[in-house]
Amino acid sequence: MSKLIDRFGRHIDYLRLSLTDRCDLRCSYCMPKGFRDFEEPEHWLTFDELERLIGIFARIGVGRVRITGGEPLLRRNLPELAGRLSALPGLRDLSLSTNATQLDRHADALKQAGISRINVSLDSLKAERFAKICGRDSYSKVMSGLLAAKSAGFAPIKINMVAMKGENDDEIDNMVEFCHEHGFILRLIEAMPMGDTGRNTQYLDLQPIADRLKHKYGLIEHSTPLGAGPARYLGSADGQFNVGFITPISQHFCATCNRVRLSVDGTLYMCLGQEERYEFRPLLRGGARDAEIEAAIRDAIELKPERHEFREQPLKLVRFMSMTGG
Ligand code: SAM
Ligand code: SF4
Repeated sequence: MSKLIDRFGRHIDYLRLSLTDRCDLRCSYCMPKGFRDFEEPEHWLTFDELERLIGIFARIGVGRVRITGGEPLLRRNLPELAGRLSALPGLRDLSLSTNATQLDRHADALKQAGISRINVSLDSLKAERFAKICGRDSYSKVMSGLLAAKSAGFAPIKINMVAMKGENDDEIDNMVEFCHEHGFILRLIEAMPMGDTGRNTQYLDLQPIADRLKHKYGLIEHSTPLGAGPARYLGSADGQFNVGFITPISQHFCATCNRVRLSVDGTLYMCLGQEERYEFRPLLRGGARDAEIEAAIRDAIELKPERHEFREQPLKLVRFMSMTGG
């Protein structure tokens, strides 16, 4: 079966799967306070539909899937779905991105269901500031979720911190030390202008931050990439500690983009920062055969744009990250 190669020669082997556009937090750069325009439950792809569609992706080389949202732990019976997906032939790696508010209850079941890796969003180590950035007083729940994931055996756990000028950039060093102490991998992320929330966030250029951390902590650049995503990593000489930098704005990585995103209603988005998309729900609910769905996936990949235009057209995108699936 031939691989999925787009018009620019990129091999698409990674899918981010959003299981809900809802969330129990309201991070200032992601979902606006008071937002209500959620997808209707009857439009959510069912577990049967997801298992079938992801199975077809996996058969044509999309061997890695990350479950995300919105907050994926809000989707009822998530461990059941994770178990069904991780058993699919061709699926080599099933991972999860979460805000961890409910992870303490689900960590063991997710591990048993075959989730191999977990990323947790954490923008501050100060409870009050966490509440200000994330819109809810959930810091202690996130901490217990993180520790539960650690004791369930997830390793390494990655911590995603959106670095914002004047909001939490004074905590970057504390976060480096916190992650070092717990054996977590820290990834610093530049805020993207997705929707008004993303646009109103004070973007912080991470290049100078990387230089500073390199000197302060004696970090070195990895000669081979760590992980298959867009993060560039600096690590300690003994290999025990790594910090990643995700720099969609200061240094975009579109030339090596290997991913597409499926939203909860079955829309496949080709790029976080562009409008190209393909609707799979009508096919799944309209009796399409597997071969037709596979052909549709190949047609969709043809639509993948060369790059985002966050810098050139920052006003372009009205979707929030939680709608596409981050
Ligand atoms: N709720 C889960 C979480 O927060 O990890 C999963 C979904 S969330 C949309 C996925 C990631 O997108 C998070 O790490 C979040 O920080 C990031 N994100 C959301 N809006 C963003 C923006 N405007 N710019 C950069 N990253 C953003
Ligand atoms: Fe929710 Fe994640 Fe968006 Fe924060 S970043 S509002 S936790 S979906």
